[in-house]
Amino acid sequence: MLIQGAEVDGVAGVDVRIDPGEGGRTGAGRIVAVGRGLAAQVGEDVVTADGGALIPGLHDHHVHLRAWAATRWSVPLGSVRDPGEFDRRVRDGAVSAPSGAWLRGVGWHESTGGALDRYRLDALTGARPARVQHRTGAMWVLNSAALRVVGAENAGPAGIERDASRAPTGRLYRLDDWLRDRIRRAEPDPFPAALSALTGEAAARGVTRFTDATPGRDQSETDALAALAIPQHLTLMSPPGITGPGVGPHKIVLNDTTLPEAGELAETIRGSHRAGFPVAVHCVTVEQLVTLLAAIEDAGGLPGDRVEHAGVVPPGSAVRLARQGIAVVTNPGFLADRGDVYRRDVPAPERDWLYPVRSLLDAGVTVAAATDAPFGPADPWVAIAAAVTRRTPDGEVLGPHERIYPAEALRLFLEDPDRAGGRRRIAPGQPSDVCLLHVPLEVVLRDPSSTHVRATFG
Ligand SMILES: [Zn+2]
Repeated sequence: MLIQGAEVDGVAGVDVRIDPGEGGRTGAGRIVAVGRGLAAQVGEDVVTADGGALIPGLHDHHVHLRAWAATRWSVPLGSVRDPGEFDRRVRDGAVSAPSGAWLRGVGWHESTGGALDRYRLDALTGARPARVQHRTGAMWVLNSAALRVVGAENAGPAGIERDASRAPTGRLYRLDDWLRDRIRRAEPDPFPAALSALTGEAAARGVTRFTDATPGRDQSETDALAALAIPQHLTLMSPPGITGPGVGPHKIVLNDTTLPEAGELAETIRGSHRAGFPVAVHCVTVEQLVTLLAAIEDAGGLPGDRVEHAGVVPPGSAVRLARQGIAVVTNPGFLADRGDVYRRDVPAPERDWLYPVRSLLDAGVTVAAATDAPFGPADPWVAIAAAVTRRTPDGEVLGPHERIYPAEALRLFLEDPDRAGGRRRIAPGQPSDVCLLHVPLEVVLRDPSSTHVRATFG
């Protein structure tokens, strides 16, 4: 296809021809020509850019697709403060769940969410079958549509609570197995519809690539994800031994209670490197980063090695990361989402070392960014804006010395830490997945937002 009249690298009136390859799924598509006055070939699709900037498609470098999709039909209720908030969350969940799917609520407790039966749930969810689990796990509350589907109205085992007229109240005690079996027969798997909705929304924000960072994914789940028909190219971090298209770095999760010795971690890293895989190491505390640095200096870095999150980076660490060629995949969106919690809960001096970017770039570290959806805001433009301002929801600036320029913030989503070629560009031979903006880049960078995205291609 031919995109005519785009702005590329600040130059207006540029035409770009792309060949998306086999249906765009393999990642083999390429930009084949960039120039002025390229004439459309017979049968070629032509898009008129009207002066909008053409940039490489955004790569969200760390997401969890299954957990993200589950947010479309599963509502967390453990943190609600009062019955009004319970009502709002359940009602919103019922509206946004994929059509035909059950709504599922978890973590409800009557002390915060209020008493619950089928009738209160009916008023919130209408005709969509819904079930809400008590925090203890000992009880589910079903709405009327759900009671009908599982066949609990007039029959069913003991454990279905009934009122004086023998009608079920909606409360089912210790019937998990019975319920699961009934629901599985009645409900289509909601994952494909939910995933298709969220990947479509991501494409509308300019995202053409995802890396799924879910730890411990097995071979069958890896095959299932790799076979999905979604608009994005997919890289799958995996444990050792998993194979298939898109299988990327080996994911290593560090946590403080089970932190290995540096020597032990170095051995694990060597094992991955010997198998030809870089490592992606989850590090959110000082202890974890210190251990990783010692381990990677022992094992030696391999191109493609990366630190996930790098939540706290004490002084002196950046140069050591740079020396080993290990990239950082950071999450600026967290600052916009929970920055005030960090301000309250993270003690000095660590507060000044949170999710740094400027100091890493200055030290020569390759820095890429990710939303960590569903655990952070899913819009990469929110993260881009946050990397620039570092503003919390209350409007405070967290670590002003770590702010970066808008063009640098956008580049965090154009980096390719897994590939020797580095950051993607609009140039012949580069990958064909691109993002067309409505206006020139300078206008977009003044106010980074997904509203500027017109379409993605390739
Ligand atoms: Zn994650």
